[in-house]
Amino acid sequence: MGEESFAEWLDGSEAYFYTWETDVQGFRGVELYRLLWQVSRDSQNTRGGQLDTGVYEGGYVGVLVVGSVALDSVKTPFGAVENVLGGSASYFSTAASFFTDVSLVGVVGEDFPSEALALFRAREINTDGLERVQGRTFRWAGEYTYDLNEAITLDTQLNVFEQFRPKLPAAYQDSPYVFLANIDPELQIEVLNQVKRPKFVACDTMNFWIQGKLEALRAVLQRVDLLTINESEARQLAQEPNVVKAAGAILRMGPKALIIKRGEYGALMFNGSTMFFAPAYPLEMVYDPTGAGDSFAGGFMGYLANVDDVSEEAMRQAIVMGSTMASFNVESFSLERLRALSYPEIRDRFRAFKGLVNFADLPETP
Ligand code: AMP
Repeated sequence: MGEESFAEWLDGSEAYFYTWETDVQGFRGVELYRLLWQVSRDSQNTRGGQLDTGVYEGGYVGVLVVGSVALDSVKTPFGAVENVLGGSASYFSTAASFFTDVSLVGVVGEDFPSEALALFRAREINTDGLERVQGRTFRWAGEYTYDLNEAITLDTQLNVFEQFRPKLPAAYQDSPYVFLANIDPELQIEVLNQVKRPKFVACDTMNFWIQGKLEALRAVLQRVDLLTINESEARQLAQEPNVVKAAGAILRMGPKALIIKRGEYGALMFNGSTMFFAPAYPLEMVYDPTGAGDSFAGGFMGYLANVDDVSEEAMRQAIVMGSTMASFNVESFSLERLRALSYPEIRDRFRAFKGLVNFADLPETP
C-alpha cells in the first residue's frame, strides 16, 4: 500500500479515530500504532507484502531466538544512556525481522517498559515466548573508550534470568532456524532440547559465560552448526593468541563453522576448509557499538532464513548482510537506528559493501 492510498484509506476509516487496548501477556499496547507501523513497514521491507522491493522472493521460514532482553546503561565517548532497551535477543530479533519471521524466547521483569514491547510488536516479532515475571529485568552496564571495539562491562545483573526456565510455545518447536544468542549456556541447551528438527542452529557467547559456565558452553558447542564470537573471546575460549589457530581449536569443539567478529575490522568465517572475510563498513560516526554483534547475527540468520539456504555461498552473502545491519546499529544508542531503518537503506548499504571490496583480477602476465 503506497502512502497516498493509505492516507485515503485512513480518511474513510473509522479506525483513524479508534484506538483499542489489547492485553498481550500482561502488557498494554495500542493496536492502532501497530497498524500504522505495519503499513509503513510493508512498503519498506523484504518480507510481508514485498510491495516495493521486488527482491528476496524466496520463501521465508522463520528464526527462533533465545537471549537476553535487557535494560542497558551505556557510556561511550559520545554520550551516555541509562536503562534503555538492549539485550542480545532484542538486537537480534529487530535486525532479523527485516528478513524473516522471528520468535523470541526470553524473560523480562515488571519494570520492563511497554514502549520497548511496542517496538517488538511493530516489527511483528512473535513475543509469545517472552515471559513477564515478578522481579527486575536483566541489566547490563558497560562503557567504551575511544577503542570502540571492546566493551568494558561495569555491571551484569541477571535478575529474572536467574530463575528462568524457558518453555517453548508449541508453534515455536518446529522452527527451522535457531539462534542461541548470548545468554547462560544452560538456557541455550534447554531451548535446543525443545526444538524438534532444526535445519540450522547457531549460537553466540561472551567472556562472562566462558569464565562462568565453560562446561555448559562446551555442551552447546557440540550441538550447533555455527558459533559467532568476538575475536578476544575466541582467543580466550581456545586459549590461543593466534586467530587462525584459535579458529581451528574452536571448530574441534563442535561447530561446523565459525564467525569471528573483529569490530571495526570486519568478520572472518572459517569452516575447516575455506576462509571468508567481510569488512565492516567504514563509518564516519560510530555512537554506540552495543548490539553490533547481535544485529550482525540478526542480519546473518534473518537472511539465511529468508533465502532458506545454508550453502557456503548463501552464508557469504549473509555475512555481508550481518555487517550491513551492524553498521546501521552502531549509528545510534540502543535500538534507535534499527527502529527507524528502511529496506532501501539496507539494500543500498549492502551494495556499497560490494563496491568496497570489488576489484579487477590480474592479467596472466604483467
Ligand atoms: P553485543 O552485540 O555483544 O554488543 O551485545 C550487547 C548486549 O549484550 C547488551 O545489550 C547487553 O544487554 C547484552 N549482554 C551483556 N552481557 C550479557 C550477558 N552476560 N548475558 C547476556 N547478555 C548480555
